[in-house]
Amino acid sequence: MSRFTDHNFKSQKALIRVDFNVPIKNGVITDDTRMTAALPTIKKVLADGGAVILMSHWGRPLKDIEKKPELTLADFTLKPVAEHLSKLLGLDVQFAADCIGEDAAEKAKNLQAGQVLLLENLRYYKQEEKGDKDFAEKLSKYGDVYVNDAFGTAHRAHASTAVIAQFFPGDKKMFGLLMEGEVAAAEKVMFNNQKPFVAIIGGAKVSDKILIIENLLDRATDIIIGGGMAYTFFKAEGGKIGNSLCENDRLDMALELLKKAEEKGVSIHLPADSITADRFAADATSSSALSNEIPDGWMGLDIGQMATEQFKKIIGEAKTILWNGPMGVFEMEKFQHGTKSIAEAVVAATAHGAYSLVGGGDSVAAVNKFHLADKVSYVSTGGGAMLEYFEGKELPGIAAITKG
Ligand code: AMP
Repeated sequence: MSRFTDHNFKSQKALIRVDFNVPIKNGVITDDTRMTAALPTIKKVLADGGAVILMSHWGRPLKDIEKKPELTLADFTLKPVAEHLSKLLGLDVQFAADCIGEDAAEKAKNLQAGQVLLLENLRYYKQEEKGDKDFAEKLSKYGDVYVNDAFGTAHRAHASTAVIAQFFPGDKKMFGLLMEGEVAAAEKVMFNNQKPFVAIIGGAKVSDKILIIENLLDRATDIIIGGGMAYTFFKAEGGKIGNSLCENDRLDMALELLKKAEEKGVSIHLPADSITADRFAADATSSSALSNEIPDGWMGLDIGQMATEQFKKIIGEAKTILWNGPMGVFEMEKFQHGTKSIAEAVVAATAHGAYSLVGGGDSVAAVNKFHLADKVSYVSTGGGAMLEYFEGKELPGIAAITKG
């Protein structure tokens, strides 16, 4: 593998896998975060005097068309992305109406230094998700150098994210700047963390987070558990949780996790109290209760005041922080306080020198909602990929570059 920053792209064609799977409504891009995140990589190649060929997936065309036959491939085109990218870069981004085939090959061949070409949606072909070698080889022909800047799909062994790397020699494949940043942040937290290392895990379901918690038992000093998933632990310990979220088939597993943590000397912190509601609604009547004494007919939708203070203290002492998942139903104003306070605590710890990484869709949405994203050390763009990384899995998109 080669380092992107050290590579000079002069007179070379960089084939860059980006994640331009942005929300599009009626042909208009409603959130271009994923596109702006890839701009530094694109600009560096152009500044060096190279040309850029971009490839991305968008949505799930083949699966959606199977379910809704009124849809066609044209409903999944990347064309609006090419137009928006032209505006972002201030140059005319070319578009190939197919990701393989004559048009793409011709446009890639004729591309000059300083020019950018976007290929049509890779997922028009089932070979992409299947990781088809021939399909990957066809794509590989377009570029002299392969750059993977799509951390969001790094956990998939798809043709354009992993398989394609084998068609490039070691010094002609590399991470882009975005991916480099993601990998560096994840490695810092996972392998080079300073203690105390506090992991904050929240969200709806404990079943989604078991693997990450198990893996963190070997690394973290403290694990804070909040959100809906906490109630499965309280119920497992014999508590009363009313109508709170609970996975009854995971009670034994929750106890097992607590036992393992004790054996390993990791402190697991559950929220002592909760903000409760009489129903799951933004205008529900709210109250508070100890999390293991929630009355019948009520449900815990946020961590309570005692828990918030307790968690803030632990976060305040941390030197490394990983945060995945909200502390409550932060989408509803009445139940956002816990998540907001935890976000503020992470920001305060960061200001005092802690390294903080926020990863996973909903905690990222939460720091964005509270306008705190630029006050933590790193916000990951790859929800599923970051989760799998912290579960201890090898990500195919990373391995294809580092081990190839
Ligand atoms: P996840 O995708 O598993 O990280 O879960 C995030 C979702 O969990 C968010 O939409 C939250 O609204 C939801 N959530 C967090 N806490 C609770 C809770 N106590 N009860 C129900 N849902 C919750």
